[in-house]
Amino acid sequence: MPVLFVGHGSPMNAVEDNPFTRSLAALGRDLPRPEAILVVSAHWLTRGTRTTCIPNPRTIHDFMGFPPELYAMDYPAPGAPALAREIAEMAGGVCDDTWGFDHASWAILRHMYPDADVPLIELSLDAALSPPEHFEIGARIASLRDRGVLIVGSGNVVHNLRAVRWDEGAEPYSWAIEFDEFVRDRLEARDDEALIDYEQLGYVASLAVPTNEHYLPLLYAAALRRDGDGLVFTHTGVDMGSVSMRCVRIG
Ligand code: ZN
Repeated sequence: MPVLFVGHGSPMNAVEDNPFTRSLAALGRDLPRPEAILVVSAHWLTRGTRTTCIPNPRTIHDFMGFPPELYAMDYPAPGAPALAREIAEMAGGVCDDTWGFDHASWAILRHMYPDADVPLIELSLDAALSPPEHFEIGARIASLRDRGVLIVGSGNVVHNLRAVRWDEGAEPYSWAIEFDEFVRDRLEARDDEALIDYEQLGYVASLAVPTNEHYLPLLYAAALRRDGDGLVFTHTGVDMGSVSMRCVRIG
């Protein structure tokens, strides 16, 4: 099964029809049908790694100040408790029965799998771990690819909400482009060390990745890459000046 990293951007993408959401719909059509989906979520930070281990996780509207239609949305995909428990063990984590599907998963999957009929599990980010430790967890769950599990890292390569430009068609910041292109180039070179050690970019990295929860899901996708896998950027661009929408298909 291929692996994805999706730059999810604004929650409004859940209800919009634009080139990004159409690229997601195309992925849903092109990918082999998954047995289950595992989303590594930028919006679920925990102590210890956790997976959603309940049969019917709720849809979580983890954002404020958006139109009512967004809060009315439901993504009723079933969970997969037995598989979630197994993944928690593989990742050295624990089962969770409190979380559900936050918008890092449902806002993109409703375009990829609108019928919500593929079992869905979320994997949290342990807030105490370093980038190399996150990469290591990605490597530990690699065998899921052979079992038809579609693993999706959901975040954004560049994510600086303080710097967001709200005017229509806003130009990206130079540092946003520089960091986005750094990630593109290092992925093409399969230079995992540089992706893990992104802070070496200093000033540019501190602006592009002021907090790293949206970047870390990319390290899980990179860790799952194998010799012979293809690498395709299924969508690119920088929204609102400071949010990279780069999406990556591996394999
Ligand atoms: Zn987000």
